[in-house]
Amino acid sequence: MNATRLGALQPARLYVSTTHTHDPRHDLDYIAIERAINGEPTPLTLREKLAAAQHLDARGYTPTAIAALIGSTHSSITQWKAQGWTTTAIRDEPAGTDSPDCGTPRGYAQHRRRREDACPRCKRANADRSARYKATGSTLPAAA
Ligand SMILES: [Zn+2]
Repeated sequence: MNATRLGALQPARLYVSTTHTHDPRHDLDYIAIERAINGEPTPLTLREKLAAAQHLDARGYTPTAIAALIGSTHSSITQWKAQGWTTTAIRDEPAGTDSPDCGTPRGYAQHRRRREDACPRCKRANADRSARYKATGSTLPAAA
C-alpha cells in the first residue's frame, strides 16, 4: 500500500511573501491576501484586492477565477489588468457598492449568487435580518 503524504492531493498553497506580513508602507496585509488567494473568504481592502489579483494573474488565473477568490467582479479585474495593476486603476470601483441593492438582504443574496464576499453594508443588513428573525420569528422589520 502506498502511503499518501498529508496534503498531497491538495493544490500547493500560494504565498505572497514568506518573510513579511505587510508591505513596507503597511497598506497591504499579506496574511489576508494569502488567505483570500487560497480560497479562504477574507475581507480585503481595494488595494489588497488589486495586489491579490495581480498575484493570481501572474500565476495564470482567469479574471473570473480571480474575481471569485477576492470578492470582486470580472470587469474590475480586466480593467485593473488593462491599467497595468496601478493603484490609480482602483479609483473607478466604488468602495463596497457594486449593486444598487447593497445594504439590503437582497444585495447580500446577490453577492452570494455572484460567489463573492458580501460587502460590509450587505453583511450588516443580513446580520440584522437574521437577528430580527431569531428575535421575532419574522424577517420583516418591526412595525414602527
Ligand atoms: Zn453589497
